[in-house]
Formats: sequence, C-alpha cells, structure tokens
Amino acid sequence: MEDTIVAVATSIGESSINVLRVSGKDSIKIVNKIFSKDLSNVNSHTVHYGFIMDNGEKIDEVLVSVFLSPKTFTTEDIVEISVHGGEICVNKVLELVLSNGARLAEAGEFLKRAFLNGRIDLTQAEAVGDLINAQSEYARKMAIRGVDKQLFNVISELKEKVLSLIANIEVNIDYPEYEDAIVVSKEMVSDVVCFVKEKVDVLIDDSSKGLVIKNGLKMVLVGKPNVGKSSLLNKLLNEDKAIVTDVKGTTRDIIEGTLMIDGIKISILDTAGIRKSNDIVEAIGVERSKSAINDADIVLFVIDSESGFDSEDEEVLNNIGNKRVLVVYNKSDIVDYKTDILDNYESVNVSALDNESISDLKNKISDMFGLKKIGSSNYMYVSNARQISLLKRCSEIISDIENAINVDMEIDMIEIDVKRLWETLCEITGEVAQDDLLNEIFSKFCLGK
Ligand code: GDP
Repeated sequence: MEDTIVAVATSIGESSINVLRVSGKDSIKIVNKIFSKDLSNVNSHTVHYGFIMDNGEKIDEVLVSVFLSPKTFTTEDIVEISVHGGEICVNKVLELVLSNGARLAEAGEFLKRAFLNGRIDLTQAEAVGDLINAQSEYARKMAIRGVDKQLFNVISELKEKVLSLIANIEVNIDYPEYEDAIVVSKEMVSDVVCFVKEKVDVLIDDSSKGLVIKNGLKMVLVGKPNVGKSSLLNKLLNEDKAIVTDVKGTTRDIIEGTLMIDGIKISILDTAGIRKSNDIVEAIGVERSKSAINDADIVLFVIDSESGFDSEDEEVLNNIGNKRVLVVYNKSDIVDYKTDILDNYESVNVSALDNESISDLKNKISDMFGLKKIGSSNYMYVSNARQISLLKRCSEIISDIENAINVDMEIDMIEIDVKRLWETLCEITGEVAQDDLLNEIFSKFCLGK
C-alpha cells in the first residue's frame, strides 16, 4: 500500500458535481501539483476553494477537501476533489491526478485499505456494500447497523469469552504446577459454549429475515389462461404493464414489476401459463415460466372462481413442485368459490376488479412471511452469505464440542474444537481472512469505494 490511488467516487452522469477521491501518502503532494493553492500545510478536515490547473490553464473550478492520516476512511491521507458534473471535467482532472503520480484504484480498493489498515472489520466492509446496494428503507436500516459495528460487537463478545477459555485451558496444560490458576472443568467449557450457541442460533434463525429484507421476495403468478393473472398483476403494480384481454394465451412472455408490501420489496412475474403449446413463441414462454417458478419464494396459483378447478388447473399445479403456494381464487365478484382439493394450501378469495380485495391479497402474503414483524424489529440481522455460512460452521463445531463433553473426552482434546470455534468467529470479522478471499469480497464494490 505504498502507492497513492485515485478513483471517481460518484457515478458519472448528469449531476451538478462529481467527486474524485485520492488516498495514499502522496495524496497532498500530487493534488498540490495541479491545484491553484498550496495545500502543504493545511489542517486536516478542511475544504479549499480554487482551480485545477494544467500548465497555467484553468481546467475546472473545484472544492478540495483534505483529510490527514490517521483519522480518515482509509487511515491514509485523503484528498477529495469536487469537480463540476458531466464526464469531461472529471475525466480531465482524473487524467491529471494520474499523470502526476497516482494509480487508478481497483474496485473496492479504498474500502480494502480501510480494512487492511484496521479502520473497519470485514462485517463493516460488507455492510457498507449492503448500504450502497440497499433496495428498501429496511435494507438501509439493517445495513447501517452493520456499519455501526453491531454484528462486530456481538461476535467480539463471543470471541473474548472463547479466547479466555482457551487461555485458561492452556495454562492448565502448560503450567500444571500453578496452584492459583483456574482449573477448567467440563462444566466451564459447557457454560461458555452454551452462551456462544445461544447467540449464534439467534443470528442464524434471524438471517432468513435479513435475507428477506435484503433481497425481497420473488413472487410468480401462475394459472391457466384467462383466470385473471394479468389483471391481478396490473392491480398489484398499479399500472397497465400486462396486456389484459380475454383471448386465451395472450400473455406470451414473462411480465415483471416490483411492489412493496409492508416495506419489503416484492418482485412479481406474470407467467405465460404452463399449458402445452404448439406455438413456438408461447412454448418458449412456458419454459421461462417453469424456471421463474423454480426461482420463486412464493407462487400465486390463480384459479377462476367462475369456471372452478379443472384438469387444466391440475396440470398447472403439477408444475409448481414443492414451492410455497398461495391459492388465489380470482373473480370472487362473480362467485365465491373454494375447492377441497387445494385445502392443504393457504388461500384467499379476491377480485382483480376490486381494490379492497387486492389489499386482502397483500395482507395474506404479508402474514405468510411475517413481513409486519420484520418491519417492526431491531434490524440486527445477518444477511451476508459468507457470514451466515461461518455462523453455521460455528454451530456445527459447538455440536462437536457438546458431543465431546458428553462422551467425557479429555479437556485437551476438546480444546482443539474450542480453538476451531475461535478461529471461525475470527473469520467472520476478517481477522484470519486469506488474500484471495479478500480480493473476491472487495472486487464486488464499485470503483471509488
Ligand atoms: P390471464 O390470461 O390469466 O392473464 O387473464 P386476464 O387478466 O387477461 O383476464 C382475462 C379476462 O378475465 C379479462 O377479460 C379480464 O377482464 C377478466 N377478469 C380478470 N379478473 C377478473 C375478476 O376478478 N372479475 C371479473 N369479473 N373478471 C375478471
């Protein structure tokens, strides 16, 4: 990390300003060469008005913010140049910073430096990514808790307890003659492990809520032609996205949109129906429908209440597989209908022509996934796949330790698994992360982050 890096931190498009971020030991020196004022002795966290200059020519009127090491995002000297919006100014200034000694940053490199310099841990870095990519207000709330070290604090508490246990076991093994050392009993090991297990289990259980907040839910509308799928989709999305006609098979391809139910993003797809078709275009749509069902969290199986459940509906049902299903008896304005055949599924009677019954449908979906509860929570959920898999590994190691205690294994043997538990907890916060893993994680960020 000897070199000084630069990147455009804003997304280039139509905007009033763009920001270039420069980080590294030569940040001030490099920007000084192209700025109209001398920055060599300025205080940290100050903003300076002036011009970016190239051989005496004024390039842009800018504001330069100076943040001196170590109290900065990367802990290195950082200079941020706010240039005018549009591609031309920012690219010209970027070119000048590069030609005066900086290197173009790789994706996520600023964040990686912040992590490697101990400014943030890996859970915070991942939360920054989640914050940037947040698709809903709840996703933002969840991510900011991660940025604010809430997960880090929980894991740190667990690490401390496990480490102190390991230290005591080691003292017992290495210095048996010490009379004032605590003699670690299996009960003591068990107490610590139970404490860790309780916290880890809550994090794992709640991660499903975290994933719903982060990714939302995928919902698919299926049903034979003319049951009212497109009409329901339009009502749910409040726009005329799907063409509604009464000619069978009109919806030939997948039509999609998103809506919010109780603060959770729901992506919804209207499928082409799954009946056998000789029409090639329709047949492709049918294949896509099947794969959409595969990806879905919930399938809305729409039935026409007027015509009732028939063999065509049965064919559709057979293609749903073992997905979570909500049977939607549509056209309830004509007749209220329900069949015993579908008694095993959750169901709701609606009319695509009536707004109130669309609210009933949304409430039903909300209840099925406990969305109201998710929205009224403290948002301390893990939603990162890497973190969830490490928590699950902790849980497995804890089972191994419990089994070892149950079969009365010697403490020095049990200690091997206690150490593994500690290492896995350290992996969550990134203390034992390997280079290639770090590269993989940080390369997912945009340039300038
Ligand atoms: P899809 O083929 O399943 O997408 O069905 P459409 O949404 O195109 O609807 C087929 C026909 O049923 C259209 O004429 C709609 O106006 C009508 N329709 C849809 N939903 C309802 C409903 O709840 N009540 C009544 N009475 N007609 C409906």
